[in-house]
Amino acid sequence: MIKYKLICKSCNNIFDSWFSNSKEYEKLKKKKYLNCYICNSREIEKTLMAPNVINSSEVKTQDISKIKEIKSKLREFKKFIKDNFKYVGNEFVYEASSIHYD
Ligand SMILES: [Zn+2]
Repeated sequence: MIKYKLICKSCNNIFDSWFSNSKEYEKLKKKKYLNCYICNSREIEKTLMAPNVINSSEVKTQDISKIKEIKSKLREFKKFIKDNFKYVGNEFVYEASSIHYD
């Protein structure tokens, strides 16, 4: 999938449109299937802005960065449990012995 920013030559409306590939854009433009949703003009051009392409490698990169994020959160969480565990542990010993000797 590829996302182009399209501009309407009549009203200068800029809008995003998805195409399965760059050839599909050319095809739809030639057949005058592209039209502005505001003024209905068919004078649509692709802007020079870089197209957004979704491909499998990009998704993979996103997954990896998400996994890294989760891992670092887990590390923080583990540290928290470790720090907290000591405190609870001491409390537990105190609580247990107070019950025992009471
Ligand atoms: Zn327009």
